[in-house]
Amino acid sequence: MAALLCPVRDCHLALVREERRVFCPRGHSFDIARSGYINLLQPQDRRSKQPGDTESAVHGRRRLHDLGVTGPQLDAIGEVISASPSDVVLDAGCGEGFYLGSLARASGFDACGVDISVPALDTAARRYPTCEWVVANADRFVPYADRSFSIVLSITARMNAGEFLRVLNHGGRLLIALPAPDDLIELRGPGRDRVARTIETFGGDFTLIEQRRVSTTADLDAAAVQDVLHSIYRPLRSQPAQAMRVTFSLDLLLFRAESR
Ligand SMILES: [Zn+2]
Repeated sequence: MAALLCPVRDCHLALVREERRVFCPRGHSFDIARSGYINLLQPQDRRSKQPGDTESAVHGRRRLHDLGVTGPQLDAIGEVISASPSDVVLDAGCGEGFYLGSLARASGFDACGVDISVPALDTAARRYPTCEWVVANADRFVPYADRSFSIVLSITARMNAGEFLRVLNHGGRLLIALPAPDDLIELRGPGRDRVARTIETFGGDFTLIEQRRVSTTADLDAAAVQDVLHSIYRPLRSQPAQAMRVTFSLDLLLFRAESR
């Protein structure tokens, strides 16, 4: 298992895992929730205006995954990373854990998911108990030792290039999934193409080795459309949601970390 680090600024010593808590040699101690996730949030993170996904967004997304509409995206991510049981994988901004948990079950690798949302990780920990789930602010600090991982995933999440590079081992792979311009186009109109800017952001320390767009449509009933709207924080429409065909589309970028 990857070494977990104390999130307290200027501490960052290795945490020791016990049954109900983790603690560092300086005495900083963090609870492990009943459902199994480790809560490394600090007071300044709790006060954040963006504490991550709300419960209704988490459950809406979970129901969409259970309907199978994101299956093609899951399969494509699995193909692109082609993980083996010896890999150690971090999902930074893992949400309710669908992608990491499903891939870990299929491949048997060691898996760690980090997200700032307590409701998301509570759901993840109950659903995928063999993975390690950590509530932390990965924008600030990814709470793992240098070179802990062979693969880092960032799936429609905020990106922290410096931290991704630090926790990847030499030659490790980074999979970035971005919403493509036609993602949910029926509900929110065309979006921006984020590929070029993302390649530029990661260009110095990473080499792009594969690029792929995976798009699918699904015929959703009104309840599922409502779940999509919750998942993108647009539940308050004047009209009730109606059944419609919706496009789900991701741009996948696979990078290799260059040796330093
Ligand atoms: Zn500490």
